[in-house]
Amino acid sequence: MGTNPEKRPEITSASFCDWRQLGHRYYSLGFYLNRIFGGKTWKVSVDGGFHCPNADGAISRSGCLFCNIASFSPSRRWSGLTIREQILRAAAKLRERRGIHRFIAYFQPGTNTYGPPDHLERLYREALSVPGVVGLAIGTRPDCLSDDVLDFLATISHETWLTVEIGVQSCHNDTLRRINRGHSWEDAVNAIQRCATRGLRVSVHLMFGLPGETYHHMLETAGKIAELPVHGVKLHNLYVARDTGLAKLYEAGQYQPLSQEAYVSIVCDVLERLPPHVVIERLTAETDAGYLVAPEWCRRKGETISLIDKQLEARGTYQGCRFREGPHQPVGLSSSPNKDGNM
Ligand code: SF4
Repeated sequence: MGTNPEKRPEITSASFCDWRQLGHRYYSLGFYLNRIFGGKTWKVSVDGGFHCPNADGAISRSGCLFCNIASFSPSRRWSGLTIREQILRAAAKLRERRGIHRFIAYFQPGTNTYGPPDHLERLYREALSVPGVVGLAIGTRPDCLSDDVLDFLATISHETWLTVEIGVQSCHNDTLRRINRGHSWEDAVNAIQRCATRGLRVSVHLMFGLPGETYHHMLETAGKIAELPVHGVKLHNLYVARDTGLAKLYEAGQYQPLSQEAYVSIVCDVLERLPPHVVIERLTAETDAGYLVAPEWCRRKGETISLIDKQLEARGTYQGCRFREGPHQPVGLSSSPNKDGNM
């Protein structure tokens, strides 16, 4: 495939901060994609059949404490479809129901850089060849980004819009060990910086409500991310999925998810401290109802986003208004389960 300038839009300064002038309280992914592509653009989840070194024995066989790979995406239900077929099926529905004609192919379940570069290239290029696909989002772990893979991704990023989505979750190595992530915070920093040196767009995934973490742990993670060359952030509340180690802890009474009120408050505090140019690509986790054990409020994504909007409005604050400030007293965390702030 040759260079296609239509697929690699120029990102101008106007794309970054006019969200505030237009009255938004944070820089949403929808706003960003609209500006970049000149109209509504939707992410379509694609299952490339990738496994994960933290679940196949290369690092561990048990996976992350919260992981039930089958719960990642409805696209798991389409097992057996080619990449092209998966995208065409999702795109047809989006065209019909929402009038959307531009799509980002989001390689989501598993670790989507876990394989030889020629295999990755075949799958990514198959996605890019589907009419309407204007970019790629590649979900992966910090320790699955070899120099060969990054060089190859950098080459593709000259042809199309591309984001590397890196699961970071926390800056605290004690937490990462507790949830069996199989990588460290230093691995995450290293991966982000090596992406940056190649000009790759990076989005990081953070989780709030991880076992043993307090409000201050979460804010510290956000503060450290704010200092790194990161372009986007996905914020997730940790939920308990069926058939996971976390579900066992929950059933034994050893883990309690965040309340919706606490999560909303933390997200607002984090948004206030993230730089204004960072795109907020997700505000809350979602999963198939069939996999969800708790919390029940996790099913009401729209309600949670609305509560975040309302709380920012009530505070009179917005993304970046406290950028470079340290932690302050949490708001609305009176439901914290113990006096140490562990949740
Ligand atoms: S790195 Fe991702 S796919 Fe692998 S075990 Fe953890 S959550 Fe699951």
